[in-house]
Parts: sequence; C-alpha cells; structure tokens
Amino acid sequence: MMLEAVDLKINYGRITAVRGVSLGVEKGEIVTLVGANGAGKSSILHGIAGAEKLAGGSVSFEGKDITANRAHHTAALGVSLVPEGRRIFGRMSVLENLEVGGCLKDPVSLKNGLAMVMGLFPVLKERARQEAGTLSGGEQQMLAIARGLMNEPKLLLLDEPSLGLSPLMEQAVFKVIAEIRRLGTTILLVEQNANLALKISDKTYVVESGKITLSGKSGELLKDDNIKKAYLGG
Ligand code: ATP
Repeated sequence: MMLEAVDLKINYGRITAVRGVSLGVEKGEIVTLVGANGAGKSSILHGIAGAEKLAGGSVSFEGKDITANRAHHTAALGVSLVPEGRRIFGRMSVLENLEVGGCLKDPVSLKNGLAMVMGLFPVLKERARQEAGTLSGGEQQMLAIARGLMNEPKLLLLDEPSLGLSPLMEQAVFKVIAEIRRLGTTILLVEQNANLALKISDKTYVVESGKITLSGKSGELLKDDNIKKAYLGG
C-alpha cells in the first residue's frame, strides 16, 4: 500500500466529523471517496495531509508513519493536497501561483515542473502572465491542480475538482486527472460527480456520516442498485 489510513477520527469541537475511517491506496491507482455533503470526505483528505488534527487513528505513506506530521512535512514526502474551492492567489500571475506550488524545489526541478504542467495545461502557458483572479472558473481549477503538481507529488489528494464547473469543463478536468495518473501520479479523489469519478477510478469508498459504509472496485459499484439510487441519479 502506498497510503494506508487506519481508524481515522476527526473532531471539530464537540462535532465528530470522522468516526473511524480506514482506507488504502495502492501506487498507480485512482481511488474515489463519494458521499453526501458533510459526510466527512474533505476532513479525511485534510487529516491525511496533516492539515487537520487527528483525534485518533494512524496514517502511513510508503511505509512511513506520518500520523503526527505537520502538513509541510507530509508535502515534502510527496503528498500534495489540492483543496476544495481552488484557493489560488488571485492577484498573482498564473506563473507566480505555479512558482509558489514549487517552492520546495530547487531551481532545476522548478523549471522541469513548470515545463511539465505547461505541457499538461496549455491554457496556463498561454496565460502565464495573466492575473490568476481573471481566469475562468475552469481555468482556475486547472491552475489549482497544476500548482499541486509543481511539487511533483507521488500522491495527489484532489478535493472536489469539478465543483461549480460547466459539464464541458468538468469533462476537461477529468481528462486531465486521467492523464496525471498516466504520467505516474497516484490520486485520491473526492468528487460530487460520482458518475464520472467511478468511471475514472479503480476503487471507491462510500462515506456516510463520518464512516465508510461501502467500498469496492469502482466498476462493480457502478452497477450496484443502491449506489445508483443514492449517488448516480437513478
Ligand atoms: P462537503 O462536500 O460539503 O465538503 P464533506 O463530505 O467533505 O462535505 P466535511 O467538509 O469533511 O464533509 O465535513 C464533515 C462535517 O464536519 C460536517 O458536519 C461539517 O459541517 C463539519 N466541519 C467541517 N469543517 C469544520 C470546521 N472547520 N469546524 C466545524 N465543523 C466542521
């Protein structure tokens, strides 16, 4: 297992958001978390990334225990979190946003990283000098993903990358996700578009009220009647 989370628990004050979640991601996989709003999916990603404090459980990455790691330590090991809502720096240029993403890198790797993401996202190359806040929603999402890739992560944690996008941009984002995996990055994906997410992924976990209630091969869950009713619109 590349990533293994065991019995994760996360509280916000008296609210228990994650109640003992265990999951695993193998190298090369795309793994999806689906579930209703507020089920705890974002919290799980943040807990794994070291961006949210764990009330219990453990996380290991490539065999190392990273449970107590701060977010920047986990990032330095090769785990990038692309949070929901893009959170790009609107007043900075596209290029500057990417440079921030690559700030852990030496100048040569930074240059390689830029070439890699510009190849993957030609629109960002065209708009390198443009203020990021003036990009369209879809382009901002591409920038957020590209910034996450600048660190050349082994594992990319993607939180709701298609949220708020038009169907066409949604398709484009999913195409990029498939391409990122093809280039060798493992992906743990949180998505509200369960249909697309299950089609693109190898394995899926269903999260309900802070717990995993079902998991399996995505192709099999796509055919599951309960999953169809609850998450696939029929
Ligand atoms: P969404 O798709 O709406 O982001 P989610 O499945 O990602 O949902 P989380 O964002 O992890 O769910 O939230 C899980 C629960 O924890 C929810 O009840 C939410 O209101 C609560 N929660 C999340 N973040 C905080 C916070 N910073 N402070 C207090 N409660 C929080």
